[in-house]
Amino acid sequence: MLIKLMSSKSSNTLRQYFPFFSNSRLERCVYLDSAATSQKLQTVVDITQQYYQERTVNVHRSSHHLAANVTEQFEQSRKHIQHFIGAKSHKEIIWTKGATESINLVASGLAKSVFKAGDSILISAMEHHANIVPWQQIAQTLNLQLQVMPIDINGVLKLEESLQMITFSTALVAIGHVSNALGNINPIETIIAKAKEVGALTLIDGTQAVSHLTVNVQQLDCDFYVFSGHKMFGPTGIGVLYGKYDLLEQLPPYQLGGEMIKQVSFAHTTFQAPPLKFEAGTPNIVGVLGIGVASEFIQQHRNELLVLENNLYKQLLDTLSVIPQVRLWGDIVNSICVQSFTVQGVSHYDLAVLLDKRNIAVRVGHHCAMPLMQTLGIDGTIRVSLAAYNNSADINSFGQALTECINLLTESATQIKTVATSFDSNQIKRSLTPIAELIKQAKSWDQTYRQLMLAGKSLVRLKDQYKTETSAVHGCESQVWIRCFINEGSIVLEGDSPSKIVRGLLAVVFEALSGKTAHQVLMFNLADYLKTLHLGKHLSQSRGNGLSAVVDKIIEYCQLQSTNSI
Ligand code: PMP
Repeated sequence: MLIKLMSSKSSNTLRQYFPFFSNSRLERCVYLDSAATSQKLQTVVDITQQYYQERTVNVHRSSHHLAANVTEQFEQSRKHIQHFIGAKSHKEIIWTKGATESINLVASGLAKSVFKAGDSILISAMEHHANIVPWQQIAQTLNLQLQVMPIDINGVLKLEESLQMITFSTALVAIGHVSNALGNINPIETIIAKAKEVGALTLIDGTQAVSHLTVNVQQLDCDFYVFSGHKMFGPTGIGVLYGKYDLLEQLPPYQLGGEMIKQVSFAHTTFQAPPLKFEAGTPNIVGVLGIGVASEFIQQHRNELLVLENNLYKQLLDTLSVIPQVRLWGDIVNSICVQSFTVQGVSHYDLAVLLDKRNIAVRVGHHCAMPLMQTLGIDGTIRVSLAAYNNSADINSFGQALTECINLLTESATQIKTVATSFDSNQIKRSLTPIAELIKQAKSWDQTYRQLMLAGKSLVRLKDQYKTETSAVHGCESQVWIRCFINEGSIVLEGDSPSKIVRGLLAVVFEALSGKTAHQVLMFNLADYLKTLHLGKHLSQSRGNGLSAVVDKIIEYCQLQSTNSI
């Protein structure tokens, strides 16, 4: 799809349908993270509430009229999805709990019925983990080859080379319609056509596509198409697997029990025909009702959505292009309204923390596409993902906040007014230490983060030879390494990170713990301590706030030391 330059200004006529934006109890949040999950339609909220308050019954089981009504509506949703993606029959629509489960269902079924040793499975270098790992694991088990279609230095699929990789030994091509990390629209029509020529099956991961592009699976002629409800204004925990009916008939069931069973005795069981064959157990009824409503909304407003998104995306590109340190990733022509970028000399984690303080919600890191980041040679990006409910003001706020944050993160140390923060790590401190004191005295968030970044300068940087898998701390959106060891009975801590804020946080933690015995560290309530410095947020379990993983690693080390010394 070519992003056309639209003349009209972006408006927010669709915003009214999303209660998130009119909830006065919420602090105004500039929500630019719709690729992670979209905001929900009021009609989706209504149907959910109505089901739980007025119509709670099971489907496909009881014969009373309430159950019959809801079952009818449940099946009506299947028809909505059939029309939404242009499937031939509603029997080709299977409810799953999301795109991940849809892919796993197909992978497990093909592994049992279609793949044979020597076959190859072709994916692309920009796939979401959900469209890599199921194939990788099956390839390892069945001795298949997993091949990867290449991308160029910006993250755009190299089409010619990719097409050459589709050969008579290709059993399946599994590729995203749109990259979640970069927003690229992949040329799936050409890829599907080539796969047909050699008799390979095709699975298209449409998770990031269906709310932005009109999809017609019959025209595409793909064998499987998968997506999730929560990225298309619908509920979480519901997804779709589309499959050509004859293929669905060939696949064995995925899970067993419930309405997928036709007849059972202790000796033998027969199964329902698709789609019920793949829907074991009580389904996510509200999820199904909600995704049906969401798909109808998108179909009704498709043109409006497209115009709004194109305008917003253009404004976003204009905003980013004027910042000299910004490097854009992905295809900016064939793209949905999602843009990934990095900022020279600035850690994506630091930017996200500071943007969050300005109420700007973006996602940073690898976006569940670690192999893509490895291929591009970066450790993550900042991703702005828009939807038609965003408006020009959102992008203006983002642009202004981004400039402020970059300035804050790149200003030189001499500009930061502060007191010296050196500390003697061998000294056990009984009162608040200089770093902690300075952070406590900070009058604003910006000052707190300035002090943190300065504190990070007192951290002795870990030599590269120590940045290994053993010292790596996983669970944070930034890379972090720490080393713990005991010297003359006291703990010594060393660490590093490309993030200035994480280095500052490490300095704070190390200042509090250095010089203590392992036993004293275990007795020390670090969480409470950080809360007194208003840094407790960084201990949240969310991946973006990964200090808790650092603390866990230190505690684990001290527990081991304490056990060994008993
Ligand atoms: N594929 C893509 C392209 C995605 O963006 C996502 C979600 N980020 C998934 C698969 C997995 O979707 P879910 O978590 O809803 O199963």
